[in-house]
Amino acid sequence: MGYRILIVEDEADLSVPLAENLKDDGFEAEIAPTVEKARQSLISHWDLVILDLMLPDMPGETFLNYLKQQTTYPPVLILTARGTVQDKLSLFKQGCDDYLTKPFIYEELRERVRALLRRSQRVTQEHLSFEDIQLDPTTFKLAAGSLTTILTPKEASILKLFFSAPGKVVSRKEILENVWGLREEPGTNFIGVHLFNLRRKLNEVDRGAWLQTVRASGFVFCKPEASHL
Ligand code: CA
Repeated sequence: MGYRILIVEDEADLSVPLAENLKDDGFEAEIAPTVEKARQSLISHWDLVILDLMLPDMPGETFLNYLKQQTTYPPVLILTARGTVQDKLSLFKQGCDDYLTKPFIYEELRERVRALLRRSQRVTQEHLSFEDIQLDPTTFKLAAGSLTTILTPKEASILKLFFSAPGKVVSRKEILENVWGLREEPGTNFIGVHLFNLRRKLNEVDRGAWLQTVRASGFVFCKPEASHL
């Protein structure tokens, strides 16, 4: 399956051919013509965002800031007519990953997209361990020292999410969106059951590793001695 790219751009003359070109190159591409539309989509669905700045409802920066509030978010390539050094510096400070000014050559954009995806894949790889706990992404084997156990694919996805945000509170909503692509729990304590099993398996390999519940906000992955909760 191709990488999923969200194009946040109101000019159809630009976004439609861009989406077609990306599809021809094996990507999946969808267009959101406003910030509101982009925010309605599930952020965890996208591997990369191409973001225009001058959008009809809100400035593109609003969406960039929204992304940065999520536990994990895809790399962002800004595509804009605004191209002064000041503009660029300001956007990089706000957290964009790359910047291309209009008019642009499609081939250059494509190579920038590929480079960003390669980099973010590398980051994902790094999130497969935490201290002495290791997760094999293909077999879902969880190991710490000589102790091992096997996770289900969903438990592995939850753990990867915690690995990507050690010490940070991850909300039920974020787990639901990132692991299942859902906005609402399909049943009572749906996530609780998976977390219970994940905790039990973590305990099998490393008694020190804890998934702590933070009342009313979510869960945090940390060593008990590092906990101030
Ligand atoms: Ca525009």
